Amino acid sequence: MKDSMEDIILCHGGVGSKERPLDDMKGIAEKAYSKNPLDSVVNAVVIMEDDPRFNAGTGSVIRIDGSVQMDAAVSIPGKFGSVIGIENVKNPVLVARDVMEKTPHIILSGSGAVQFARKLGYGEYDPKTERTISQYSKMVEALKKETTDNRYKIFKELIRNGIIDEPHDTVGAVARIDGKFAAAVSTGGASPMMRGRVGDVPIPGAGIFCGEKGAVVATGIGEEIAKRVLCHRIYERINTDKLENILREEIEYFGENLAGVIAVSHDEHAFFSNGSMGTDMFKIKV
Ligand code: ASP
Repeated sequence: MKDSMEDIILCHGGVGSKERPLDDMKGIAEKAYSKNPLDSVVNAVVIMEDDPRFNAGTGSVIRIDGSVQMDAAVSIPGKFGSVIGIENVKNPVLVARDVMEKTPHIILSGSGAVQFARKLGYGEYDPKTERTISQYSKMVEALKKETTDNRYKIFKELIRNGIIDEPHDTVGAVARIDGKFAAAVSTGGASPMMRGRVGDVPIPGAGIFCGEKGAVVATGIGEEIAKRVLCHRIYERINTDKLENILREEIEYFGENLAGVIAVSHDEHAFFSNGSMGTDMFKIKV
C-alpha cells in the first residue's frame, strides 16, 4: 500500500493472544500522535505499558522466581537505547529513551539500569497485577508436575494443555512523521522464563531496527527472533519487494514458533504475524 503522503503511527499489542485483536488500538495510535516521530512511538508504548492488559510495564509477566524484569528499547536512525531486565519502574520505555539521549551507551542492564532510573527520579513501582499474580501461581503449580521431557518440550506441552500462556501482549510502535522514522518496544518477556533471561526486544536488529529506509519492530518468541536478527533482516530487504511480501516471507520462516512484525518504509506500511496480533494505526495526510 503506497502511503508516502501520510504521517503514520502503527502499533501492535503482541502476537499470540486469544483475546486480541483489541478494538481500541486505533485510539492508542491516535492519542500517541505528535509531529515528532520518537515522541509518537514512545507515547504509544507508554499508553500500553500503563494498560494492565498488556505484558509491558504494569501487567508484565512474572518470572519463574517470582520477579518481574522488563526489557524496552527505542530507536531513530543512527541512535538506539535500551534497558534489559529493569525492575520496579513504571515505564521502562522512558528509561530506554534516557539511555539513548543522556548516556554515551546503547544498553543498560539489571541493577545498573535501575540505578540510572532512580538517579533520574523514576520512583519505585510494582508492576504486578492480580491477573499476573494468579497466572504466576498457575505456572508454578504446572511446573511442579513430573515429566521426563526436556525443558522446551515441557513448556510446549503446558501451553498446548492451556496450563500456561504462550508469549503475548508485548507492545510496540513504529512511526513515519514528515518522512522521518522511529521505533519503540517494551515487554515483560516470554513466559515462562528464568530470572536474567533476555529476549529480542532490547537487542538492536533483533526485536527493533530503525534507519533511513524505515522502522521495524517484532513480537513473539524472543530467542527465535534474536537468532534470526529479524528486524535488521527485514530492514535490509526494504525496497527490494513489496513490504507485505517481505514480512510474510520472513514470518513464514518461523513455522510454529510465534512471531509477528510491524514496519513502515518511505511509502508503505505493513504488518504480519503467524498468530493473532492486535494491530492498528493512525494516519493523517501531510
Ligand atoms: N518478544 C518478547 C520476548 O521474547 C515476547 C513477546 O513479543 O510477546 O521477550
